Amino acid sequence: MVQKEDILKALSQIEDPDLHKDIVTLGFIKELVIDGSSVSFSIELTTAGCPLKNMFKTEAERLVKELDGVEKVHIVMTARQNRISNDSDSLKNVKHVIAVASAKGGVGKSTVAATLACEFAEKGFKVGLLDTDLFGPSLPTLFNIRESKIVQRDNMLIPMDYKGMKFMSFGFLLGDSPAIMRGPMVSGYIQQLLTTVEWGELDYLFIDMPPGTGDIQLTISQTIKLDGALIVTTRSSLSLVDVARGILMFEKVQIPALGVVENMAYFVCDNCDKEHYIFGEKKSELSDRFGIETIAHIPVDSNRAKPFDKYESNSINSDLADSLIRQVGKNAAAATTPPDVKLMTDRVIITWEGETPVEIENKELRDSCKCALCVDEYSGEKTLKTEDIPEDIHGQEAVPLGNYAVSIQWSDGHTSSIYPYKTLKALSAVTSDSPS
Ligand code: ADP
Repeated sequence: MVQKEDILKALSQIEDPDLHKDIVTLGFIKELVIDGSSVSFSIELTTAGCPLKNMFKTEAERLVKELDGVEKVHIVMTARQNRISNDSDSLKNVKHVIAVASAKGGVGKSTVAATLACEFAEKGFKVGLLDTDLFGPSLPTLFNIRESKIVQRDNMLIPMDYKGMKFMSFGFLLGDSPAIMRGPMVSGYIQQLLTTVEWGELDYLFIDMPPGTGDIQLTISQTIKLDGALIVTTRSSLSLVDVARGILMFEKVQIPALGVVENMAYFVCDNCDKEHYIFGEKKSELSDRFGIETIAHIPVDSNRAKPFDKYESNSINSDLADSLIRQVGKNAAAATTPPDVKLMTDRVIITWEGETPVEIENKELRDSCKCALCVDEYSGEKTLKTEDIPEDIHGQEAVPLGNYAVSIQWSDGHTSSIYPYKTLKALSAVTSDSPS
């Protein structure tokens, strides 16, 4: 009879392309039962509806069936419950909450949030969309909703059912009347909206955040547990300084950045299929400098400015949704184990769980800062002069940023250094290879 070890060995040949580890090491295989020549088990992925689901299943089935003594293989695909529900009752059956945010207004954040809601619904997920912009609610306009159908039951607000999706917006409550509110009132309203809407069972709730990172964002992050924020930006307003500031601000209010969507990045003209990148080609600078990935480039397209009541899926939107699901999964898998970062007088020691500590000299690490103050934003040339770095430079505070980077505040007063973990690994490899 086939043994458990043989099955696990076979399955360990499957690597998760996002997490770069095999699915056995990642603990995805559950409830393995061998009954004569029949084998059954479940593969528990990190996020609901992972686009890699079918690939894992087909591959696992093939590998286990190849083993001697196996005739039947039964695999159940499941997803981990990631959110530890410390939320109010209104969100207790919501699997993922994703904030759609931007550093500035007018970059297409609400359009992207609406696109995500429609696209996820197309893919068969139970979806909710919460518009938290008190001063300019956009959900009613985006979906051409003239009449809201919000009802109250037992002190709870029942969201509007829109083609199977659940919608809630201040616009439904305020109507056309302008919102004249001061700080504490705003926080109170937001809290109420987050805790008294009966969402019921949802796979994904998208929160369309107001632009920037102020009181409202803070209230949201303190009231509910988010999976993270998707940051929407445009190339024209994509100043690295702003994006870096945005990432740091979200992290400070404990919202990890899941990725960046670059909206209105290019256009495709009528007479050719070429993608014209108006503000410069796709660049990987966000990933290189801050460890955060650009998960989608979206074209300028007049169809995208039309109301969503006649939404039609397309490959760009479908890929955007798939990339986001994968980012959520990656984030959930890695979020529990950020490395330990020790700041010493002469060096920084970084230890990833189960790995040998790596060391980088303070001066070298400070010198390799890629922030917009140390590297020219447009030319990519280093502006920081090595000789200007004090010999006794040392880190004063290290703050882990989600699962992708650490921010270090230096003794020379420099506070905008963000070091992607992959950069730290590369730097430490160079350090340990070089003769001492
Ligand atoms: P924000 O929420 O960031 O303030 P909106 O989503 O309201 O921005 O978008 C601002 C304007 O740009 C809207 O008129 C919207 O229809 C339009 N828009 C957004 N994305 C695109 C796009 N990719 N192509 C064309 N128009 C767009």
